[in-house]
Amino acid sequence: MKPVIGVMPLVDEERQSLWMLPGYLEGIRQAGGLPLILPLTTDLDELEQLLGLCDGLLFTGGQDVSPALYHESELEGLVQSCTPRDRMEQAALAMALRQGIPVLGICRGLQLINAALGGTLYQDLPAQHPSEIVHKQQPPYDVPVHPVQVLKATPLAALLQVENLQVNSYHHQAVKTLAPPLQPMALSPDGLIEAAYAPGKPFVWAVQWHPEFSYPVDPASRAIFAAFVTAAGNVRVIPLAMR
Ligand code: MN
Repeated sequence: MKPVIGVMPLVDEERQSLWMLPGYLEGIRQAGGLPLILPLTTDLDELEQLLGLCDGLLFTGGQDVSPALYHESELEGLVQSCTPRDRMEQAALAMALRQGIPVLGICRGLQLINAALGGTLYQDLPAQHPSEIVHKQQPPYDVPVHPVQVLKATPLAALLQVENLQVNSYHHQAVKTLAPPLQPMALSPDGLIEAAYAPGKPFVWAVQWHPEFSYPVDPASRAIFAAFVTAAGNVRVIPLAMR
């Protein structure tokens, strides 16, 4: 039995549709997991039941996280959030942490996890953190555009055994202050936290870059998916009722 990874659905509110980038699913699959795209729901009973089907949860990229989550008012015209996603993902994260279900956040996933756990975000990087570093690259998205420093004595350093990593970058927001339960694992040259984890949890990792685009060409991206799926597989030995 492969570990089942619940994948947060991508939401296109304009077209009133849910959708998915295949890279999220393939990244999980090539790491030995079975991806399961979740429906968009804010019903807590449904979420609880859905999480019972999952050994891990992937928080995908997408819309900006609403500044309401960190008690700031929105910079006018610069933030495009998606309330149902914010609500669903906040609730799902709280349940996953309570139940010890491994979590991987990608891009918005990092931002959502940080905001939900008490951190804050730059709402708009060009306005609030201008920099020479390209954080919103042009396609192709599997090409790295900036380095990150991998911080020593972090699980990411232990996994990759490197001090620097070249990453792709396609983000509009970023961590401003890190949530108290999180620790940084990687920094961009202009000082942004590009990866974080929650010490003391089975596996709560999040990266600002996009392994779902780069896994076919980048061993580090594949290693991150593999670490996540392996952690999800290890949780399976704990009976559901014990979680
Ligand atoms: Mn970046």
